[in-house]
Amino acid sequence: MQFDLSDILARVGIRRTCDILEPPIADGDLTCIEPIRGELCFVNAGSALLVTGQVSTRVAMVCSRCLAAMEEPLDVEIDEQYPLVNRTAGGPGHRHDVVVDEEENIASGRLFSGPLLDLTELLRQTLSVALPLQPLHRPDCAGLCRTCGHDLNMGPCACRSHHPDSRLAALGKLLDERVKPS
Ligand SMILES: [Zn+2]
Ligand SMILES: [Zn+2]
Repeated sequence: MQFDLSDILARVGIRRTCDILEPPIADGDLTCIEPIRGELCFVNAGSALLVTGQVSTRVAMVCSRCLAAMEEPLDVEIDEQYPLVNRTAGGPGHRHDVVVDEEENIASGRLFSGPLLDLTELLRQTLSVALPLQPLHRPDCAGLCRTCGHDLNMGPCACRSHHPDSRLAALGKLLDERVKPS
């Protein structure tokens, strides 16, 4: 969705709040399974456009330890500043003279086109960055056995006893030494 910022860009000090209700975005690692809801506030602060607010949705992911499919709510605060520049030197009275100066973040995807903000792209970038790097389908997920690939959440596998956890083995050795008569 394109959001028209013309009235906001036209007057310094203006503030506008808008409700967000966008269809789910699926792009790369980001798979929303519910509409994106929230509220954004735009402020023309003269030298910059301030965008603040909060959006939420639910996302589908894969557990980083056991590869199980999982879903998680995603609530994200938005707090961005985009520098504003006046493109017309000495031509007062025009409404679309002021535009967002976006030169430095072109690589991450263009957000603005004249007075239009690509709201879908802003939400895509914001939600993608907020995805957990190592999602767990539950906090104590036991993961997969490195030797045979068995899902250890279902119980121990046959090869587990042959490969005891090295840290526990070290602890066991330490305890053995402590109880040794000197
Ligand atoms: Zn898991
Ligand atoms: Zn195993």
